[in-house]
Amino acid sequence: MYQNGHLATGFGINSVGKIPLGLKRKGLRIVVTGGAGFVGSHLVDRLIARGDSVIVVDNFFTGRKENVVHHFGNPRFELIRHDVVEPLLLEVDQIYHLACPASPVHYKHNPTNVVGTLNMLGLAKRVGARFLLTSTSEVYGDPLQHPQVETYWGNVNPIGVRSCYDEGKRTAETLTMDYHRGAGVEVRIARIFNTYGPRMCIDDGRVVSNFVAQALRKEPLTVYGDGKQTRSFQFVSDLVEGLMRLMEGEHVGPFNLGNPGEFTMLELAQVVQETIDPNAKIEFRPNTEDDPHKRKPDITKAKDLLGWEPKVALRKGLPMMVSDFRQRIFGDHKQDDA
Ligand code: NAD
Ligand code: UDP
Ligand code: UDP
Repeated sequence: MYQNGHLATGFGINSVGKIPLGLKRKGLRIVVTGGAGFVGSHLVDRLIARGDSVIVVDNFFTGRKENVVHHFGNPRFELIRHDVVEPLLLEVDQIYHLACPASPVHYKHNPTNVVGTLNMLGLAKRVGARFLLTSTSEVYGDPLQHPQVETYWGNVNPIGVRSCYDEGKRTAETLTMDYHRGAGVEVRIARIFNTYGPRMCIDDGRVVSNFVAQALRKEPLTVYGDGKQTRSFQFVSDLVEGLMRLMEGEHVGPFNLGNPGEFTMLELAQVVQETIDPNAKIEFRPNTEDDPHKRKPDITKAKDLLGWEPKVALRKGLPMMVSDFRQRIFGDHKQDDA
């Protein structure tokens, strides 16, 4: 089925795995679970623009109708309110599985990663669809290797407060590979590193959204711990390009998808100050348990096999997120632009 809907229509892949995404071909039927969320909704925009038919499956746990409302009325777009923990019957060519309570304040009490992934793999198996799992850099835990390469097995606490997410995604990767090896399901695995951009949840506790919202509201930027821990921040359009190349390419992965530019939280706070308010204060708070000390992707594999690398630097991407947050926090009331 996948072959008929997709490869058989001449959607070619060249020798280095570079995908001519704009190539003309028959539209695919694609499910995006979590498609009303931050990353999912940007992915949906690209798929619809490419000419595909998209079914978003979302329970609106953290996602919002506003993120996809501009597609309402398009006959190639469908929105289903559904919890992926429950079985689901659909006929599709590809499944982008993003549904997951993805931020620290939401992910602690939820079996979505395991049960939801199992159901979507069951669906992929039944209809012969290609399945892409959005895993995470958190599978590396508090890494003892830096930067992290896909072959690194990670350093994860199985019983800590973050374990539901880290181990949940590790289990999801295991299930994905089991369905691939055992049932012949075509799978793809992306390990996503910290991503930011417009439509991010405003109050979900992640560092970029916290700092941006705080600076806009004239509140102090809350730096946890000593602020010397590092992260690498990827703009959402780069991630979406990477996910689509991975899905269309011929490699299972896992692939790290992230921006190798590494920042301490104090440096990030400084970029936010420069972008929004040079007078924004910094307030130190105790750090959360098991917080990884550093994180930076090695993206050699994605560069070589998918022909992908991020294009948007933090100082370029942040202003685009700030305009969106300004709009959502203050409505149409125009604030002085930084
Ligand atoms: P998000 O919270 O904006 O999106 C997740 C979406 O999944 C939401 O729309 C939510 O309502 C939906 N959802 C949650 N549980 C569900 C369920 N049981 N059934 C149906 N829908 C459900 O988060 P995001 O940042 O867009 O993350 C998307 C994916 O990317 C997640 O799988 C996440 O783990 C992964 N990821 C994101 C980042 C990042 O920095 N944004 C980093 C690593 C991995
Ligand atoms: N599943 C689903 N939609 C489908 C096919 C399966 O939601 O179209 C669910 C199914 O309910 C099961 C899971 O996916 O809980 C795994 O399915 P599979 O057929 O692999 O396992 P089995 O049902 O044989 O245990
Ligand atoms: N962090 C921070 N202030 C905040 C929120 C988070 O300093 O208001 C820190 C957090 O301790 C971690 C880093 O920022 O070291 C990234 O946190 P986030 O939750 O965004 O992502 P993750 O820990 O999942 O990489």
